[in-house]
Amino acid sequence: MADIGIPILLIDDDRFMRAILSQTLQDAGYLVSQATNGKEALELCRTNYFPIILTDWVMPEMDGIAFCRAFRKKTAECYTYLILLTSQEGKDKLIEGLEAGADEYLLKPVNESELMVRLKTARRILDLESSLQKSLEEIKQLSIRDPLTGVFNRGYLDQHLPNEIRRADRYVRDFSLIMMDLDHFKKINDTWGHQAGDAVLQHCSRIIAGTIRREVDWVARYGGEEFVLVLPETEQAGCQVVAERLRNLIATSPCLYRGENLSITASFGTVSRAASDSPDAVTADTMLYQADQCLYQAKASGRNRVVGSSL
Ligand code: GH3
Ligand code: MG
Ligand code: MG
Repeated sequence: MADIGIPILLIDDDRFMRAILSQTLQDAGYLVSQATNGKEALELCRTNYFPIILTDWVMPEMDGIAFCRAFRKKTAECYTYLILLTSQEGKDKLIEGLEAGADEYLLKPVNESELMVRLKTARRILDLESSLQKSLEEIKQLSIRDPLTGVFNRGYLDQHLPNEIRRADRYVRDFSLIMMDLDHFKKINDTWGHQAGDAVLQHCSRIIAGTIRREVDWVARYGGEEFVLVLPETEQAGCQVVAERLRNLIATSPCLYRGENLSITASFGTVSRAASDSPDAVTADTMLYQADQCLYQAKASGRNRVVGSSL
């Protein structure tokens, strides 16, 4: 985290104290917000993220200890470093403050140099925390994405498709699923090599990603050259339009590989559930099976086509 512009929330009921500290912090490059007691501060924290909070102990309405406790009870995405500022001396007080959730404890009157080094410590901890969050996010993405194409993997599909179907059932919504399989893909590998096959898979994934609705639809690599597209809030007619558009785009957009234009087509099996006629719950397996049956028909009747169905 850069030194400059880090938001700090300063909580103190003493206007004079707030003015002095706020000036010191601003001079050091921090972006200072102020609150006059714990309650007001909690309200501010509902809509703002402060990586660092400096709070006085004794205040009306809600004191610093109660604030620390209440603040730590909230679930937060990012860490906040809490510093208690107080004239309350003694080991017991220090322990009480840290027990309540403070990370650090500074005695008033605040020594400016000490405050600055304590803030440096805060930034080190916050930097560590944010790099940990970043690594966790990277690990999460690695575990749910197919490394070749970047779309979701089979594990993600197995885990999330049942939830999507349950949600559609529960809220009586339309729901569709498309299974897509590249035609004669083995021939691409055999003729141009495995790397060309990989390039074609990446090319098709990009086309799919550009075709579906970004916020709600999603796609997973189901097998080698098979993809499953999940289309919540989509009825059969809409699903057919998507599948047909995709079929046409793939058939008319050859993949450029080492100066060669590799033509490719794909076959599609779709299955849709209209909100109005879905009295019985349906499982992910049933929907995948039905889509696979349609895909098989599309292959058997000549490939490069869409066969739709409803449940
Ligand atoms: P059909 O039109 O009936 O679907 O024929 P097809 O050749 O596409 O189907 P088949 O199932 O016979 O072959 C699929 C091929 O996909 C075989 C396999 O080598 C290839 N494949 C699977 N995963 C990958 C991959 O990650 N990269 C590459 N390059 N090829 C893959
Ligand atoms: Mg195939
Ligand atoms: Mg296949």
